[in-house]
Amino acid sequence: MRYHTPESFEDASSIAAAASGTTRFLAGGTDVLVQLRSELVEPDDLIDIKNIPGVHDIARSDDGGWRIGAAVSGAQMMAHAELKADWPGVVEATDLIGSTQVQSRCTMVGNLCNGSPAADSVPAMIAAGAVANVVGPNGARDIPVEDVPIGPGKLSLEKGEVVTAISIGARPKHSGDAYLRFIPRTEMDIAVVGCGVCLTRDGDKITAARVSLGAVAPTALLVKKAADAIIGTALDDAALEALASAASAACNPIDDKRGTVKFRIHVAGVLARRAAKIAYERAAK
Ligand SMILES: Cc1cc2nc3c(=O)[nH]c(=O)nc-3n(C[C@H](O)[C@H](O)[C@H](O)COP(=O)(O)OP(=O)(O)OC[C@H]3O[C@@H](n4cnc5c(N)ncnc54)[C@H](O)[C@@H]3O)c2cc1C
Repeated sequence: MRYHTPESFEDASSIAAAASGTTRFLAGGTDVLVQLRSELVEPDDLIDIKNIPGVHDIARSDDGGWRIGAAVSGAQMMAHAELKADWPGVVEATDLIGSTQVQSRCTMVGNLCNGSPAADSVPAMIAAGAVANVVGPNGARDIPVEDVPIGPGKLSLEKGEVVTAISIGARPKHSGDAYLRFIPRTEMDIAVVGCGVCLTRDGDKITAARVSLGAVAPTALLVKKAADAIIGTALDDAALEALASAASAACNPIDDKRGTVKFRIHVAGVLARRAAKIAYERAAK
């Protein structure tokens, strides 16, 4: 195995583009190192991105939004009061990943690029309209987070492409986001269902919304019909009912020991209601 420590994303991309065997990037390593030790993956090239300047930074972007470097840990995000005030759902979703030890290493980029349909931060990022900033052999591009995973463990990234950061826009006035997941235990478990909601209010009325579900399909879903069910409403009982039905209808889950298809479909509706209520309250401030 060749271990690389490039000092720029362009170099990281060139190494990945020229590699012929199995390649992995190393951000926090909380997926990659576990896979290595259990012999699930044996990379020929392991490209550690942590020496690249800016990769550990949480910075305001010119539009008032945020640029979160590819090696920023969940713990760093939780400690960042301003980011947490703007996007509590995204930060809380990342904070659900693993234990205190895992928190000090795990990143949103690794969570996204591992390609798990149950990744906790992904529905929250999708609801918030986040984009992955990518550098590759053909230059830089931005990909909406919902377009990055294309199946379990599969990404839309091309050979040699590396994610440099996650960008989230400025939170619109009177907006709020929230993420909830269901797990059989109280922590340290994989989401049976996850749901992220972000919405904007004008008085009591919802003027914009995004709803995303995790762990109920081969990739996290952006569910437009669920958002449409609450836009133009004051999140009354009828709107919540329509939201829950649309969320449940979007599910195409697996049946396994953590939850049956029927259970996951039901819980998707329950979590969508609860997350929407939290986002609605947050948007009032
Ligand atoms: C004990 C334990 C508990 C966990 N609990 C949870 C949980 O509750 N919820 C959850 O969602 N996950 C959980 N995980 C999984 C893991 O911690 C997360 O997926 C984490 O966010 C991965 O981030 P990382 O930085 O460690 O990724 P890494 O392991 O460094 O990388 C993961 C993948 O992303 C790719 N990658 C990394 N950086 C880049 C880049 N810049 N560009 C392109 N590809 C890149 C790598 O090639 C690799 O395939 C848990 C893991 C452990 C060990």
